[in-house]
Amino acid sequence: MMLNNPVLILNQNYQPLNICNTKRALVLLDLGKAELMQDAVGHINTVSKAFKLPSIIRLYRMVKIPIDVRRLSRIGVFVRDNHTCQYCGTYSKTLTLDHVIPRSKGGQHEWNNVVSACSSCNHKKAGRNPSEAKMNLIREPYAPRPNPFYLVERGAILSEWKPFIPWLVSQTSD
Ligand SMILES: [Zn+2]
Repeated sequence: MMLNNPVLILNQNYQPLNICNTKRALVLLDLGKAELMQDAVGHINTVSKAFKLPSIIRLYRMVKIPIDVRRLSRIGVFVRDNHTCQYCGTYSKTLTLDHVIPRSKGGQHEWNNVVSACSSCNHKKAGRNPSEAKMNLIREPYAPRPNPFYLVERGAILSEWKPFIPWLVSQTSD
């Protein structure tokens, strides 16, 4: 159903905010709460008018992104790390999460203590700190901001959305 197609919602400042369905997007447009940024191919025809099917809309008012939007997730970490092991640099679709400071040593389950690691590096590092394991991080982990990484959990990112999702630009497409 076209009314269930995904639509990217941009915040007033053009940051990606969320993904909704076409029906919700049409409501926001109709209420004057958002503007059409880009339409998809196709129309919805009603008795009285033809709507352009939105693909991207932008809110007229700034929505504050709540902190929990940046909640830690496996996929979010993999996307941040470009699906690359942060110890050996291997690109992989089957990465694991590694706690830089192991949880057994008081390391927190937070963005700045979690990295993508291939299973062999994770195995090799085991319950040690990077210095103990003599394994250096390619890049210090960081909390994503302000872009909500959780968007990638909501399903496929349409190609026309990519210019508005800067953290996808460096990602290898496949
Ligand atoms: Zn590795």
